[in-house]
Amino acid sequence: MLRIIVCVKIVPKPEEVSVDPETWRLDRSHARSEINPPDMNAMEIALRLKDRHGARLDILSMGPPFFDPILRVALAMGADHVTLLSDRAFGGADTLATTYTLAKGIEKLGGADLIICGEESSDGATGQVPAGLAEWLDIGQITMVHDAQVDLERRVVRGRREIKGGHEILETTLPAVLSVATACNEPRFMDYRIKEWAFDPEQVTVWGRNDIDADPDLIGAPGSPTIVSGLEEATSRERKRRFLQGSPEDIARQLSAVIRQAI
Ligand SMILES: Cc1cc2nc3c(=O)[nH]c(=O)nc-3n(C[C@H](O)[C@H](O)[C@H](O)COP(=O)(O)OP(=O)(O)OC[C@H]3O[C@@H](n4cnc5c(N)ncnc54)[C@H](O)[C@@H]3O)c2cc1C
Repeated sequence: MLRIIVCVKIVPKPEEVSVDPETWRLDRSHARSEINPPDMNAMEIALRLKDRHGARLDILSMGPPFFDPILRVALAMGADHVTLLSDRAFGGADTLATTYTLAKGIEKLGGADLIICGEESSDGATGQVPAGLAEWLDIGQITMVHDAQVDLERRVVRGRREIKGGHEILETTLPAVLSVATACNEPRFMDYRIKEWAFDPEQVTVWGRNDIDADPDLIGAPGSPTIVSGLEEATSRERKRRFLQGSPEDIARQLSAVIRQAI
C-alpha cells in the first residue's frame, strides 16, 4: 500500500500577527493558529492519491503541544494519524535543525513512498524545508507541483508543474519529496461524520527527542547555525510623477539620466 506523510506546520493567522515597534519581534500572543494554508493544498493532493490508490496517510508536525487540536482538522479531512514532534529541546530551531528533526521523525515512522510539503509557510516562508528533507533523507524531490500521479508498478511519481505558457511533467523514483504550489487546488472540507473519531486522544502521538533518537547537537538552538543578525524596516521608495519636455531625443536623454541616477 502507498505510504504518504504530509508535513504540516501550524502558523499564526497572518492578519492577527503584529510587530512590536520596540523589539521588531513578531507578537503572536493575540493571534489564533491555523494549518499553514499551502499545507492544506498538500493534504488535498495526498487525499486524492489516497482516493485513487488507497494509502496510509500520516501527518507529521513539529511544534508545541497546543498544535494538537488544530492538527486534528487533518484527521477530519481524511488523514489516518498525526505525529507531533514536541520537546523543549527542539526550540530555537532554524530550517537546518527543523529538517533534521522532521527527517528523524519520518525515519521513526518507518519512512514513506511520498513526503508531501507545502511550497512555503506563511510565517517563516523560506521554502527550504522540502529541499532540506530530501537532502537529509537522500531521496529525490519535485518542487512546486500542481498535481501528482503515482505509478506503483514502476515505482515512480510524476509531478505536473505550471509554467509560463504551459506545463511540464517531472518524474522521479519513489521514495520522493514533493512540494505543492500554493492555492493549486481546493482543499476538501472536514467530514463531520468522523469528527468524533478525530478528537479521540489515540489519533495523535507526541514524540520527544529520545523517541526519535535525535542527536542533541543537531536539534534546537545547538543545531541551528543561522543567526538573525539584524532587522530593518523595508521601505518603498517615494514615487514621483514628472513630465519630460522637449524633442523625443531630449526626452530620451533626460530619461536616461534619471535612470542612471536611480541605479
Ligand atoms: C535562528 C532561528 C531561530 C528560530 N527559532 C524558532 C523557535 O524557537 N520556534 C519556532 O517555532 N520557530 C523558530 N524558528 C523558525 C523555524 O526555523 C521555521 O519555522 C522552520 O524551520 C520552518 O521554516 P519555514 O517556516 O521557512 O518553512 P518553509 O520551508 O517555508 O515551509 C515549507 C513546508 O515545509 C513544511 N514545514 C515547515 N515547517 C514545519 C514544521 N515545523 N512541521 C511540519 N512541517 C513543516 C510544511 O509542509 C511547509 O509548507 C527559528 C528560525 C531561526 C532562523
